[in-house]
Amino acid sequence: MTSAPSLPGNRILVVGAARSGLAATALLLGHGYQVTLTDSRPAADLDPKIRQLIEKGGRLEAGGHQATSFRKADLIVVSPGVPSDLAEIRQAREAGVPVWAEAELAWRFLKGSIAGITGSNGKTTTTSLTTHLLREASIDAVACGNIGVPLSSLINEDSSSRWYVFEMSSFQLETIDQLRPHIAVYLNLTQDHLDRHPDFSHYRNAKERIFSNQTSEDHAVLNLDDTLVAAAADHILSRISWFGLALDPRPRFAVERGSFVERSGEAAPRPLLPLTQYALRGSHNISNALASLTTASLCGAQASDLASGLRSFRPLPHRMEPVGALGGIEFVNDSKATNVDAALRAVEAFHQPVVWILGGREKGSDFQPLKTTAGSDRVRGVIAMGEAAERITEVLGNVVPVRKVIDLSSALREACALARSGDVVLLSPACASFDQYRSYEERGDDFRARVRALIEKETGGTASGV
Ligand code: ADP
Repeated sequence: MTSAPSLPGNRILVVGAARSGLAATALLLGHGYQVTLTDSRPAADLDPKIRQLIEKGGRLEAGGHQATSFRKADLIVVSPGVPSDLAEIRQAREAGVPVWAEAELAWRFLKGSIAGITGSNGKTTTTSLTTHLLREASIDAVACGNIGVPLSSLINEDSSSRWYVFEMSSFQLETIDQLRPHIAVYLNLTQDHLDRHPDFSHYRNAKERIFSNQTSEDHAVLNLDDTLVAAAADHILSRISWFGLALDPRPRFAVERGSFVERSGEAAPRPLLPLTQYALRGSHNISNALASLTTASLCGAQASDLASGLRSFRPLPHRMEPVGALGGIEFVNDSKATNVDAALRAVEAFHQPVVWILGGREKGSDFQPLKTTAGSDRVRGVIAMGEAAERITEVLGNVVPVRKVIDLSSALREACALARSGDVVLLSPACASFDQYRSYEERGDDFRARVRALIEKETGGTASGV
């Protein structure tokens, strides 16, 4: 058992009974705290593992929240999925009860170091790639946070030499208190989650809290190509390492003459890997690689290990994932592109014409920035699906052929009718999935399965399923 840090008191209320809340509850019960776990969903809909926590002394308040439990707590711990402006949380905060992210709680128990990764897009890719690079360099590293592994669940195997490569969302960062990443990576900033943040500056402030507890002993890894990110340099106390695609002498890692290179002082840059041997598509993924190289190097990884790690890394599901080819048409699943910028990057990654499947549930984003790319030669046509179909058609209808459909099944049918040999059919929807699916994963899985079924039907399985 790890030694217990001093928390604001003994009575802790954990809000949200999914993965993070369960892990936080188990951690706290293991250290002898009195824990109440609350969730708005009824007990029958919750993870059955809660029973073990109740056996260990945890209390459950399911099917709604009790305001008194919030007010009487010494500390409230919120899971990343819980809105921090929940009325009960707001009232408790006004009454002086501290409210911490689950990550903040776990951090108080931690001996290892955090490399935190935030930004609007590319967090999961950069988190996975950095972890992969570190492991390839025989450095003990584990990916956690938004990527699906709560930090609280890792405390039992903690060690002072371990790196936690931590994907940090704006929701988590809003409720950190003293959490201090030794390395904080800021990838980019574009409009996203404006359904959950009151405005863009609120969202930006939340992201930049990643630096708020850093000192001159820590590091910030910043994207020089993104003016909003670069501007953060003016108010950061930590040491800055730059990365980016633009010509600039400052970054240690760069792309020169078609290769990733490492620069050091006056010596000639040292080639690491030709771009052709890096499996991820698109300039945004080169940017993610440069951020990962910079971070892994700050953690102590050496150039030769970085090169072999870059070579062996494979695309993650739902992010520019090739899912098959039929009649010279390639199908790519980028269901994770739930905002406008991510979807634009996806289309811009292809040299061949794209039939672009857009739509789903809107997140308060402006679709106007899609217009230039949608109207360019790169895009053969747009299939607009789901709740956002009408608005997408309104915005893009004048610049590109748009076919409006209800769901993914008809979207794929229309896309196949429109695409010619040599084209790409790309699901990169710029919208959330919740109008028809539980998650972007479910939407991407559905797309992959439909493409594979189509290939099977047309060829008996002889076409290339990638
Ligand atoms: P996040 O965890 O921040 O949502 P992911 O790595 O899961 O990021 O990628 C989400 C989407 O954004 C994918 O569609 C991916 O192709 C796209 N993407 C990845 N990296 C970047 C980047 N640096 N800039 C813009 N879009 C990106």
